[in-house]
Amino acid sequence: MSIARQQALKDVLERVPKHRERPHNKISAYYGENAFHLHNMREYLTDEAFKSIVEAMEKHTPLDRKVADQAATAMKEWAISRGATHYTHWFQPLTGATAEKHDSFIEPVGDGRAIERFDGSLLVQQEPDASSFPNGGIRNTFEARGYTLWDPTSPAFVVDSTLCIPTIFISYTGFALDNKMPLLKALSRIDRAATEVCQYFDKNVTKVNATLGWEQEYFLVDKSLFAARPDLQMTGRALFGAPPAKGQQLDDHYFGSIPARATAFMKEFEYEAHRLGIPVTTRHNEVAPNQFECAPVFEEANLANDHNLQLMEIMEKVARKHDFRVLLHEKPFPGLNGSGKHNNWSLGTNTGVNLLKPGNTPKTNMRFLTFFVNTLAALHKRADVVRASIASVGNDHRLGANEAPPAIISAFIGSQLSTLLDELEASIGAGALTPDDKTALKLEIGRIPEALLDNTDRNRTSPFAFTGNKFELRAVGSTANCAVPMTVLNTIVAEQLEAFKVAVDARMEAGDKKDEAILKELQLLITQSKAIRFEGNGYSEEWRLEAERRGLANLRTTPDALEVLMRPDVVKMFEDLNVLRPEEVHARVEVDLEAYILKRQIEYRVLMNMARSVIMPAAIKYQNGLVSNIQGVTSVLGEAAGELTAAQRSLLQTAGQLVQDLHRVANDLESVHDAAEAQESALLKAKAYAHEVMPKLEALAGICSEMERVVDDAIWPLPKFAELLFTR
Ligand code: ADP
Ligand code: MG
Repeated sequence: MSIARQQALKDVLERVPKHRERPHNKISAYYGENAFHLHNMREYLTDEAFKSIVEAMEKHTPLDRKVADQAATAMKEWAISRGATHYTHWFQPLTGATAEKHDSFIEPVGDGRAIERFDGSLLVQQEPDASSFPNGGIRNTFEARGYTLWDPTSPAFVVDSTLCIPTIFISYTGFALDNKMPLLKALSRIDRAATEVCQYFDKNVTKVNATLGWEQEYFLVDKSLFAARPDLQMTGRALFGAPPAKGQQLDDHYFGSIPARATAFMKEFEYEAHRLGIPVTTRHNEVAPNQFECAPVFEEANLANDHNLQLMEIMEKVARKHDFRVLLHEKPFPGLNGSGKHNNWSLGTNTGVNLLKPGNTPKTNMRFLTFFVNTLAALHKRADVVRASIASVGNDHRLGANEAPPAIISAFIGSQLSTLLDELEASIGAGALTPDDKTALKLEIGRIPEALLDNTDRNRTSPFAFTGNKFELRAVGSTANCAVPMTVLNTIVAEQLEAFKVAVDARMEAGDKKDEAILKELQLLITQSKAIRFEGNGYSEEWRLEAERRGLANLRTTPDALEVLMRPDVVKMFEDLNVLRPEEVHARVEVDLEAYILKRQIEYRVLMNMARSVIMPAAIKYQNGLVSNIQGVTSVLGEAAGELTAAQRSLLQTAGQLVQDLHRVANDLESVHDAAEAQESALLKAKAYAHEVMPKLEALAGICSEMERVVDDAIWPLPKFAELLFTR
């Protein structure tokens, strides 16, 4: 056993849970104390300034300078009272992570003293020296000007001693360089589109918020074991490893009791989350050993997303305090369950109605059906764009694998709603509705809540499932910034709702009554979008074939999926809906392809290094041991030793063959890698990595895993999966 592996195991066995004292047992006593929410903002502001800010938040209008100054002063005073000495504009560059640059509040006043200063101009706008953030060519480095602009809809917060101000990040010329700005635009578009459609049912609806409740999955690994695996350290995932004798086959981890060290970690990160006003509420084990999940109460989508990004940062920090490393990668251990981030999504009105929740009158159910069917129609029309929105290096390993939705996007709605849609489709004829038709339909629609109550199907294999009062997009990867899929989902539904409104209005102008116009349009959409509905096992081979017959896209790798975004009709959709300009779409694809290539490059280098300088020497050492054993036995027993060295010879054969294979496949991998690197365009290079390099890389990883099974455990240099996942 290598010294690192030995030491790591020793470390882990000596660890004890680190319980942190909390000042109060009641969560409500400290909930939100580190976020500048409305209620604490009010304390620091005049009524007038407070009203202006609330209005700017609701209407997304710019703040006037005087109010901005007041807001800044209020924020500074509050932050200092929370122990802040610095502030930062917190933003979401296209790398997917978050970024910040800290400045202190201090301003020297010339006589050797300093004062704390922070005014409206510093709050509202900053110019981070950000030429090194990826921008897909939008902002040339020679004019390295990007601005961060305050997003007053998401509360500022204090972490350690820094006031973090949520901002968007744009170029000098106004192009979005981040993930927040397009999300805000998509949210504002769906607000408008959904509010207009709501007017058919209720004139009091003046605002519709998209809501998001994410479920974050992750693994915990002891920090010493983590440090002894260069692949985990550099790529976030174990590139190879033999499956442990006990994996997840007993299904005993899910909802099992949480190990004590993990519990101590969870309690602390939940405490920090609650202090920031992040409403985390659920914690449980996941399917794989040492895999867990946490979920909050849902919130307005932009806020929910900021909270998810904050939580991921908190988890990483707190994990270190507990001698853990948190693995957010989508597939940290080949052969075991991967991690996702289910995005539960719905639409809520200012009147307190969830538009995807069936009501108890025919009218409210018509409204439900309208939003439900339009969402399905949007998904049908834009399934491949949704697929593109969840594309990432890590997610490529997860989609279609163990317990993960397939790369084919489809929707599961349950047998009862399926039957209902089928009946509706059949019962609305082409001509005008007779009074009898109408009565029958009303009865049908009236039955919806009943139908849903006993809708107990829980299809876990679907990437997009209706779960009674919301849709759950399950294909999102665990590292993802939800802003990307949420931008797409809200954009495509807005697009569909706008088209729906135009069509219904046209029918009404042609003489149809409102109900009839809506029903007929819904019928059309039900028929058109049928292919996206799938109730069966999404993991099965039959579904892959069936999806192909239905003409649904099956985009298995990130570069294939990203290509969809460059299609003219997709570029036009983003432009027409005022979410992304064509330059912005292309820049995003460029950045994502680049990220894909760089991450694959790193995986390639790490694996080659490990294969040649860690695994190969271990295997040769093992062979040497066998050779000297055979020689020794033979020198003592002479000719008679033949039979008594047969086993050793056979082991030597196996190890020898693996060494040859490793050498050969590593050389092959090197040449396909060099060929990929020679590609000029980012798209072709990324595709070469996906289709040429990755199969060879997996083959080499497979040989390394096989070596682990063969080589003497005493000289195996790396922590094995069983150690990474079961030592606590
Ligand atoms: P599950 O059975 O999938 O665990 P839950 O009711 O526990 O369902 O909800 C899972 C997630 O869905 C939670 O994060 C929850 O806040 C979120 N959720 C519930 N209602 C909504 C909604 N209307 N909009 C968005 N998310 C929601
Ligand atoms: Mg769920």
